Amino acid sequence: MTLADSIDALLPQTQCTQCGYAGCRPYAEAMAAGQASINRCPPGGERVIADLAALLGVAPVTLDPACGTHHPFEVALIDEEHCIGCTLCIQACPVDAIVGANQLMHTIVTELCTGCERCVAPCPVDCITMVPAGRDWQDDDANAARTRFQQRNTRLLRRHDEAAGPAARTLANKPALMATTDPQDKQQRIAQALARARANRQ
Ligand code: SF4
Ligand code: SF4
Ligand code: SF4
Repeated sequence: MTLADSIDALLPQTQCTQCGYAGCRPYAEAMAAGQASINRCPPGGERVIADLAALLGVAPVTLDPACGTHHPFEVALIDEEHCIGCTLCIQACPVDAIVGANQLMHTIVTELCTGCERCVAPCPVDCITMVPAGRDWQDDDANAARTRFQQRNTRLLRRHDEAAGPAARTLANKPALMATTDPQDKQQRIAQALARARANRQ
């Protein structure tokens, strides 16, 4: 087991990127290389900082507020009435916790959600919110999330060319929907998108 493996084993594996790295593993590798401090993981909070300090033989430090704040575990929830089936959230989810298809309602598999919030910002109709999970994030959750993250990355690398087409199309649609700063115009565009999605469903 490498030092990066040992560090990675202590991280929560939500894959939220709040540490400034593309996931828990890249952050672990940066710490192992002496290139990152131990206080950049908001989901892990003080407990993970203490574990990292013990492993690396350094003094604990407080969480870097620039990375975010530690709070009780939350999960994402989609307001399915307003979902227009754009698939942007599926593309953003690092652990495949969302199911749905183009122009169909999307839903979150709560048991798989890490609470990373990466699906929230891309949603063009703001129909994803974070809600209290009502439980703590456990080591078993972290291990399962690590596996799902690795499986997803392997799949995306293997299917990159096939995946690039639809992903590029849906991402290209978002600026058109979000381009306006006029709230009334934006509401109209969203209402039109909703009407199109509902018509397609029928
Ligand atoms: S849980 Fe988020 S902040 Fe913590 S190491 Fe993983 S990706 Fe970085
Ligand atoms: S559903 Fe959203 S919050 Fe949950 S793991 Fe996926 S991207 Fe993160
Ligand atoms: S990003 Fe929002 S509108 Fe698009 S599929 Fe996901 S929940 Fe539905």
